[in-house]
Amino acid sequence: MSVLVFIESSEGEIRKSSLEAVSYAAALDRGEVIALAIGEAEESALAKAGISGASRVLHAKDEQLKEDNIMAYASVVAEAMEKENAEILVLAKSSLGDAVASRVAIKSNAALASNVVELPDFSAGFKVKRGIYTGKAFVNVDLKAEKKILAIKKNAVPLKEDGAPCAVDAFASTVNEADFALKITGVEKAEGEILLPEAEIVVSGGRGMKGPENWHILEDLAKSLGAATGCSKPVSDMEWRPHHEHVGQTGIKVSPNLYIAVGISGAIQHLAGVNSSKCLVVINKDPEAPFFKAADYGIVGDAFEIVPKLTAAIKALNA
Ligand SMILES: Cc1cc2nc3c(=O)[nH]c(=O)nc-3n(C[C@H](O)[C@H](O)[C@H](O)COP(=O)(O)OP(=O)(O)OC[C@H]3O[C@@H](n4cnc5c(N)ncnc54)[C@H](O)[C@@H]3O)c2cc1C
Repeated sequence: MSVLVFIESSEGEIRKSSLEAVSYAAALDRGEVIALAIGEAEESALAKAGISGASRVLHAKDEQLKEDNIMAYASVVAEAMEKENAEILVLAKSSLGDAVASRVAIKSNAALASNVVELPDFSAGFKVKRGIYTGKAFVNVDLKAEKKILAIKKNAVPLKEDGAPCAVDAFASTVNEADFALKITGVEKAEGEILLPEAEIVVSGGRGMKGPENWHILEDLAKSLGAATGCSKPVSDMEWRPHHEHVGQTGIKVSPNLYIAVGISGAIQHLAGVNSSKCLVVINKDPEAPFFKAADYGIVGDAFEIVPKLTAAIKALNA
């Protein structure tokens, strides 16, 4: 029996969310942990899945699998589950992960739970806890099928970093024409050094920043902290910032260790995207701003005075 983990890479390295999925699979303690990577990647980068608990990595690198093709990826994952006699598939919850997971569930007659927030309870069946309503509630589900698929939320388990790089073996998959009914004709990647959904720290700005010309203040703060930048919906609607930075119910949902909200009122739709952050810091000149009710730390004051002082203090600490 084994646990298969579908891992995603970005910029040549395994995504942190996928390493968390490998750590989760290791913590399950239900047999050998085998990672599966699809598409182009360096062996030396994939071998690092061993550090988080994989005993080996299968690499399906067929030329046709270069782009994220959901149907083809699902076929490869289902085939690997079958060949490796995997009872459980673990993957990180992501747009690709969810799309692949649902198709594998159909192909493999598996029970699927997405947005899983902690390890299962094996005491009576296979019970998992999953977040619903953008993290405002949880539901406990019992996975009854023989095969199980768990799409896990960020921070569901601590990242395991005490293993050693493992072997990477080629995986020969049998994809067919029907898997390529949809052809990707172009990919536009989000700019920025740190990906917002995976950032440990996020500095986010709202309409209180007054205009795009003031964003350098937030970028300086973000740079001093090694953070990604985000924004409220009106900010991206007005094109002050790109849409991929829009955080909230209708945008990206983030779970960083630290979320700093500057000049954002804290509307419920914004909070829906940030409420699983570990620590929320709010900077707003209005003491009645709703965001303060959700904040761990709040600073009442003008962002244009406070943020540069904060950045200078952090730079002094780093010096
Ligand atoms: C269906 C639906 C979906 C939505 N989805 C989202 C979503 O995903 N994400 C999202 O963000 N919104 C979403 N919204 C919009 C949401 O309701 C709010 O309108 C929006 O979040 C407000 O953005 P804001 O806080 O930047 O602006 P505002 O509400 O205008 O707040 C600006 C804040 O800046 C403060 N401020 C002003 N000047 C300064 C200064 N100099 N220093 C410090 N503070 C200052 C003000 O006190 C105020 O609190 C959605 C709305 C709907 C109806």
